[in-house]
Formats: sequence, structure tokens, C-alpha cells
Amino acid sequence: MYSTAINKVEKLDDDLYMITETESIHCYLLIGEEKALLIDAGWGYEDVHPIIEKITDKPVMLALTHGDPDHGLGTVNFDEFWIHPLDYGKLLRNDTYEERIGMLEYRLKKLPAIAPYIDVEDYCNKKFSKDTKVHFLSDHEVIDLGNRHVECILTPGHSYGHLMFLEKETGRLFSGDQLVDHHNIWHFLSHDEQAPFQTTLNSLRHLKQRENEFTSIWPAHAKTPIEKNCLDELIECFESELELNYKKDVPFHSYKGDGWRHYYKSVDLIYSDERLEEFLGHPISRD
Ligand SMILES: [Zn+2]
Ligand SMILES: [Zn+2]
Repeated sequence: MYSTAINKVEKLDDDLYMITETESIHCYLLIGEEKALLIDAGWGYEDVHPIIEKITDKPVMLALTHGDPDHGLGTVNFDEFWIHPLDYGKLLRNDTYEERIGMLEYRLKKLPAIAPYIDVEDYCNKKFSKDTKVHFLSDHEVIDLGNRHVECILTPGHSYGHLMFLEKETGRLFSGDQLVDHHNIWHFLSHDEQAPFQTTLNSLRHLKQRENEFTSIWPAHAKTPIEKNCLDELIECFESELELNYKKDVPFHSYKGDGWRHYYKSVDLIYSDERLEEFLGHPISRD
């Protein structure tokens, strides 16, 4: 309905829209009585304000699930945004020409139809950190949209300041990159960017204790919404299955380095040997 070549817009309910950038990153727009909340900003290949203005005339607050570039660099199109403080440094680190050009070249090869709509040099030379105002969110903080309350749930793992957002009245949980279905979850960057597996497992167990508070789960990538069994399967993976089966894992290569890829039911986990060794408490061999 309000889609462009770069962003596909889907109305999921009267008060919920999904804006998917380049067929890859889901950003969600929740509309309360007084204001709207945009969860994540994508890479920011185009300014989404004209799309949002067609959907709602309420003021829009932008909150990020975490500081990875595919969720956060779109802040360049906003005057201000909200993030957990533990992920702000990560986002600043991603605010570079190299980070932008690396993914954009990959994306243009995959989706050549978007090329006429992006000025590559102009986009890659942008920096949100020059003049965008940042605010910090904390664990359990509630964002009041007017008759609609959204709780921030700190879920460290994939990143230290990863937030999920729980809409109290509807039970919708926006799970970011930490809970997805058949889509890779990265856990192989260095310790200053991604937490130990034990930290992730603690976050997932904490979420499990609150599962009666959520009725649907909306991740930032791939299939949406997803079933609750994705949470159970990820917990099973960390609690026992990974240790039993990691020797069958396949090598993974990316522009950020090399690691391993573990598949189990809905789980697709990318990690480093270092991450696994510290978790299991012993050196590993793959012979
Ligand atoms: Zn991420
Ligand atoms: Zn992501």
C-alpha cells in the first residue's frame, strides 16, 4: 500500500505496521493514542518519514533493539532516537563509510532493482553521529504511547544492550535478532561486541519465565510472526544439544571473519570456537 522499491509496508493490524527494508530487516510501527513507536531503523537507504506520515500523523519515537548497522544506521534520517546504553558504542563503531559501502555493494548485487533509488556516495558518506540526539532506555522501562504501554526487556547475548519490546496490552513481543526462526543469530564477534553463550542462555531463561505475558513474537528478520517453540528450541540448544552435536557444524565465512554454523530445529547459530570453548569449559576438537 505505501511500499517503495526499498521498503515494503504491510499492515498487520489497525495499530501495527511492518516496514521491511530490502527484503531483509523488519522494522515495526506501533501506533498508540498519543504517539507511535518505530522499532528499528534499518540501514536507512531511504528516509521512511514519508511512509510513516501516510500511516499516522502522531509523533514518532524511534527505539532500536540493538546497535548493529542493519537496525541502527537508519537513525541518520531521524533527529533523535532511543537505545540501550550498552549498545551505543557498538552503533557508533558501525557509523562508518566502510560499513555502509560493504553491505550496500552486496545488497545492490542481490537487488539490482533498488540501484536507481540510492545515491551510493551520498548514502555512504552520511554519519548519524554528527547531529542526531541520543536517549537511553533501561531494562523494564515502560514507553507510554497513550493507552498502549511497551516494556523494554534487556536480553543480552547477540549484543550486550539488546532490547526486546513487549507491548503489554496485546502481548506482542518484538524480539529483535535474539529470537528468530530459521535465520542466523550471530554470536561470533569478539567479546566487546557479543556476550558469552551463558549470558544469552540467562536472557532466554528469563524470557521463558515470562512467556505467559506474550502471545505473539515478531522478530527483526525472516519469518514473522514466529512460534513460541523457537524459544524452547534455542534454550534446548544451549542447555544440551549444542555440546552433543557441535562436531557436525559447518564452516561459516563472512566479511567479519570465520566461524561455525550450527543447525537445530528452528535454530541457526553462528559462533566461534572461542565462544564454544569458554561455554563448555574445555578445549574442543573437531576430529
Ligand atoms: Zn544484530
Ligand atoms: Zn539484524
